[in-house]
Amino acid sequence: MIDFSVPEDIRLLTETVRRFVTTEVQPLEAEVESLGQVPEGKLRPLRAKAQELGLFAMNMPAEVGGGGLSVVEMCLVEEELGKTSDALIRRVFGQVYPMLMVCRGEQRDRYLLPTVRGEKICAMAITEPGAGSDAAAISTTAHLDGEEWVLNGTKHYISDGDVADYTIVMAVTDAEKRARGGITLFLVDRDTPGFTVARKQPMMGHRGYGHAELSFNECRIPRDAVLGEVGGGFRLIMGSVSAIRLGHIGARAVGMATRVLEMMRVQAAERRQFGQPIGEFQMVGQMIADSAAEIFATRMMVLNTAWEIDRGVDARDKVSMVKFSASEMLCRVADRGIQIFGGAGYSKELPLERIYRDARVTRIYDGTSEIHRMLVARGVIKHGLSL
Ligand SMILES: Cc1cc2nc3c(=O)[nH]c(=O)nc-3n(C[C@H](O)[C@H](O)[C@H](O)COP(=O)(O)OP(=O)(O)OC[C@H]3O[C@@H](n4cnc5c(N)ncnc54)[C@H](O)[C@@H]3O)c2cc1C
Repeated sequence: MIDFSVPEDIRLLTETVRRFVTTEVQPLEAEVESLGQVPEGKLRPLRAKAQELGLFAMNMPAEVGGGGLSVVEMCLVEEELGKTSDALIRRVFGQVYPMLMVCRGEQRDRYLLPTVRGEKICAMAITEPGAGSDAAAISTTAHLDGEEWVLNGTKHYISDGDVADYTIVMAVTDAEKRARGGITLFLVDRDTPGFTVARKQPMMGHRGYGHAELSFNECRIPRDAVLGEVGGGFRLIMGSVSAIRLGHIGARAVGMATRVLEMMRVQAAERRQFGQPIGEFQMVGQMIADSAAEIFATRMMVLNTAWEIDRGVDARDKVSMVKFSASEMLCRVADRGIQIFGGAGYSKELPLERIYRDARVTRIYDGTSEIHRMLVARGVIKHGLSL
């Protein structure tokens, strides 16, 4: 018999995360939204508590101080994290890019370990004004000059780009080879001459942390500032985005949609119009039923895909299916949440309008819905659908 039950230690972990998110983190959401940043005075003790409970950088292996969780376990945790805002998740629980695991020698002490400890913030800069979905078409270049790499180019929409202590920058090192061995990742410190935060780029949602355009103008970095191998950048990025897409988008979407559904459930039972609870009107009930079924389906997709990744299966097509299905599911559920709450749903007195705005970007970043549909279609046409 296949056993789908969650082991006791993981059940306890997810319960701890749920309690922490609900009682300690969610109460800060409104303040973060109105300030546009996470207040440092309140963040410090909260992050310290998360670290004490072992809830920081949970996606990273135990050998570097992370949670050492399997992909399935991490997705169960991500569901709980998804019940608060992206800004608070980043700051309280950490945003550590898994490709940092290829840091070697001094890079480990300088970048990987301080990030896992919450002492340094990292940004990842791939997108450019001329290259978004087609990431291999970037025009930022890096060439060797003696013992230094020289970077030139512009990146934009970079999350945390304005505050990061260092940035992983993707640049072309061989224009002929590009994605096939001509793209390299570099670790660039914030104060490096020639590297500037050109401007902040305010967004529709995700208040609480910034997005920025970054400029590299004859920016010189040491020869050993390469992350991974020279020419191995595209492969390294593509190899580590699956876990990000599955956890950050898929599982978090399940968590956030579940939070919205719970609000819808209470409102449907308590709000009365025409002498009865609005949940007794069929059209309201349908919104709840559709949301419940879609959350359930997405959750099964996320966990099944995570299980395959844990078993070493190449699940890229499934990750793409999860990416567009989960993000679109979340947008539909958030929209229904607002509808069921009527005017209150549209007001800033409830978190629904923020969730609606925050949800929208999940269909755009980490590969748009169209790009993931294209990848799924290609895969299915070539190999069929393997479930
Ligand atoms: C809030 C936010 C945070 C971000 N954070 C980061 C970050 O930290 N680091 C980073 O590097 N980037 C980041 N990005 C950038 C993000 O990854 C890109 O916006 C995304 O990849 C889409 O690229 P684009 O905006 O250039 O759109 P485009 O690629 O120009 O796409 C525009 C439209 O064309 C469609 N399209 C393009 N190609 C095809 C095709 N082949 N078939 C069908 N349709 C197609 C797209 O689906 C989309 O609808 C962030 C963006 C946002 C909004």
